[in-house]
Amino acid sequence: MQCFKGKSVYEGTAMGPIKILKKKEGPVDRVVAENVSAEMERLEKALQYAGEQLQILHRKALDEVGRQGADIFEVHGMLLQDEDYLESVREMIRRENVKAEYAVQETGRKFAGLFEEMEDAYMQARAADIIDVSGRVIRCLQGKETSYEWNEPAVVLAEELSPGETMQLDKTKLLGIVTKRGSVNSHAAILAGMMNIPALTDVAVQTDELQDGMMAIVDSVNNRLITEPDEETMRATEIAIQKQRESRAHLQELIGKDNITTDGTRINIFANIGSVEDIPAVLENDAGGIGLFRSEFLFMGRDTAPSEEEQFHVYKQIARQMKDKKVIIRTLDIGADKQADYMIQGKEENPAMGYRAIRICLKKPEFFMPQIKAILRAAVYGNIAVMYPMIISCEEITAVKDCIIKAEKELQDMNIPYRIPEQGIMIETPAAALISDELAEMIDFFCIGTNDLTQYTLAIDRQNDKLDDFYDAHHKAVFRLIEMVVQNGHNKGIWVGICGELAADISLTEYFLRIGVDELSVAPSAVLKLRAAVRTTDLHGSRGY
Ligand code: PEP
Ligand code: MG
Repeated sequence: MQCFKGKSVYEGTAMGPIKILKKKEGPVDRVVAENVSAEMERLEKALQYAGEQLQILHRKALDEVGRQGADIFEVHGMLLQDEDYLESVREMIRRENVKAEYAVQETGRKFAGLFEEMEDAYMQARAADIIDVSGRVIRCLQGKETSYEWNEPAVVLAEELSPGETMQLDKTKLLGIVTKRGSVNSHAAILAGMMNIPALTDVAVQTDELQDGMMAIVDSVNNRLITEPDEETMRATEIAIQKQRESRAHLQELIGKDNITTDGTRINIFANIGSVEDIPAVLENDAGGIGLFRSEFLFMGRDTAPSEEEQFHVYKQIARQMKDKKVIIRTLDIGADKQADYMIQGKEENPAMGYRAIRICLKKPEFFMPQIKAILRAAVYGNIAVMYPMIISCEEITAVKDCIIKAEKELQDMNIPYRIPEQGIMIETPAAALISDELAEMIDFFCIGTNDLTQYTLAIDRQNDKLDDFYDAHHKAVFRLIEMVVQNGHNKGIWVGICGELAADISLTEYFLRIGVDELSVAPSAVLKLRAAVRTTDLHGSRGY
């Protein structure tokens, strides 16, 4: 039995066999081939195997997510049959007498470079595909299985996970998540919480010391990973998991109950979501609405932006499923750790403070306008509200409102039904908090994004795991800004919510109630725990914070 320390990302206990997720390979070295014809044979076999994998993935995606999501595997299959590409790989093996892996890698890079230089955005996006396809062929040549696919429920272990990679994990086979690197404040961490899966990061374990199938315990209550536990530890863990089940069952008794303190103060408890698939969890946990739909996840893990039509169907589906409950759609918040290559080209020195969110939307109406129109159209079908991220000035709100007027006009001209929804902004920069008195006059509500507000107030990159110890989520400066925003909002007659991770911190529930926060929006799995905290709070009693 071995025990490794880590940091809790989402609290809980899980036990099961380990599945090590292989990171994308590093570069392959140039190695001379001993026998060129044997190398050609290896290449042909790998190409055939990669093609079969893509067909299976295509069928699976068609069944599970439909045409849109499946198309990518078809494109990859076509690239794999591209004669220019294949001939170039074969030619390199013949001419340079190198191993097939190296020839595939170099040819992939060469073709990606050619695609990148093309004018057409669609062709530019093929660059990433050719790299992906080449990676698949290299893995097949090396006899490695494709990442992110496994069969039995398991504790997954990875070096690090990006938000896109976290989204690819199959929730039905996930018992726990362990990463060697990654900040507890990252979006990958937030997604693990949304999945309701015990998760640890910053675990000092060597993946090559472990093997698939080894028994592991994710104990994020005590911040540790245990491998090959002894009998006694396994028995104790089974008891902990049973208790976890019981306490979850206990919380179920709060379904249908009000979010009201013992002295009669009420607050709304909403849920944060990243996709339509999260709606069942929102309904099961009896959230009062959706306080934050991170719409950018719709734009990630693909090569082109979803069309207005595709977005309209998603937003309409969410609005319908939530019936008359409020659904706050946050417009695109791409940037920093949430990347979509077709939208942001080139590396930035400082992406958290870079070209992101509303800044991209205002510069690239080709992405923003279809989203705005899709939201306005879907608003006809339910209680939709819209919210804009990363605002720092009144001028930005004016510019956004101009886009709304333009979208309205275009829809009117085409005779398409629409409704202008309630509009709010996220307060997640100190600039927005400090001028919240002026901003409040321009919109209908504020939602405080404490994750970024803390990052920018403390000047601590939320992605940098070396700084986790300095990231003081309870810093006085952040609380002062929150109080200022609530007061300014209320003075101007608008409601104020919090949708950052701090909203779920039950040591702060009494404080948020005391300062008059109107709504707290948390991961679906945290709704009932928060309701329990509200229902046991007495604002007439002793002061909290
Ligand atoms: C926040 O910044 O608090 C927030 C809710 O947005 P995100 O975590 O998606 O940046
Ligand atoms: Mg944010």
